[in-house]
Amino acid sequence: MTSTPATGQSLPDYAPVPTSSFGPALNEDGYHVGRVERNLFWVTDGTYLSAFLATDEGVILFDAPPTIGHNLRRAVDEIAEAESLSNKVTHIVYSHHHADHTGAANLFGDDLVRIGHEETRRLLIRDNDPTRPAPDVTFSDSYTLEMGGETVELAYHGPNHSPDNIYIHFPNHDTMMLVDIVNPGWVPIYNLNLSDDAPGYLTAPDKAMEYPWSHYIGGHLGRLGTREDLALHQLYIGDIVASSEAALASVDPTPYFVRYGANVWAGVKGYLDEVTATAAAPVVSKYTGVLGAADVEAFTYTTTFTIMQSMRLDLGAGSQVHP
Ligand SMILES: [Zn+2]
Repeated sequence: MTSTPATGQSLPDYAPVPTSSFGPALNEDGYHVGRVERNLFWVTDGTYLSAFLATDEGVILFDAPPTIGHNLRRAVDEIAEAESLSNKVTHIVYSHHHADHTGAANLFGDDLVRIGHEETRRLLIRDNDPTRPAPDVTFSDSYTLEMGGETVELAYHGPNHSPDNIYIHFPNHDTMMLVDIVNPGWVPIYNLNLSDDAPGYLTAPDKAMEYPWSHYIGGHLGRLGTREDLALHQLYIGDIVASSEAALASVDPTPYFVRYGANVWAGVKGYLDEVTATAAAPVVSKYTGVLGAADVEAFTYTTTFTIMQSMRLDLGAGSQVHP
């Protein structure tokens, strides 16, 4: 077998991504900065999103993805000049500790206040990464940040994608920022968007929906989200749950255990792979052309596997006690 990924000849084809999944074009520096509402702005490089609030007293930055990197500074400067406001970043709020969302935090120096969940602080001290200085101001349940007449409500509702991922609500900007849960217009990537806590991940969009907002900053891809995007994501996840239940009830493990005998792990592998494939296939067909990359099968397959294992391990589905 030969593989020629450099020319793309052996790489699979995928359905076109729905046009509605894409955001605005990037500028020549490779970013787009747009107004969410009033003085709240969002920045994207097409793959990552962050945000900032430009007030009379300075700028509050929400996450600093390294892929946007120095373009964050350019975006802040561009808006500060256009709005005749200070471009000084006085605060940075971390959504969670992951480097792909915070690894450019050090670009804004040390003369600022860093805010995050207490678990974010613990994890960043553990990780000891100079690009992600630990937050100085921390909270356990909730924290209200007020500056320049603006209010931001930070809240922790338990582990989900990561142990420390928080809800950032802008009550006066009709906006929710919740990172790495819903990718507006696209499916989650591998393993439930690389989530640590499946039950927490599955319920996070419902918790977000309990807040009033119209604009959603999800941290990924190239556009803002809406409540409809969260509802569509929940339909996709709900279909995977239902499909997994059906597959667990219908797929017969016997042939795999007969075939592999004493090698029970090989039997388990054969069986779980068939359950996963059976559960994922109808979801892949249903959402191809609806959500970007629904037919990048490894994503829907591994997400299905993760949900199925959570149903088994967290919820006890299919658990049988030996008589
Ligand atoms: Zn993350």
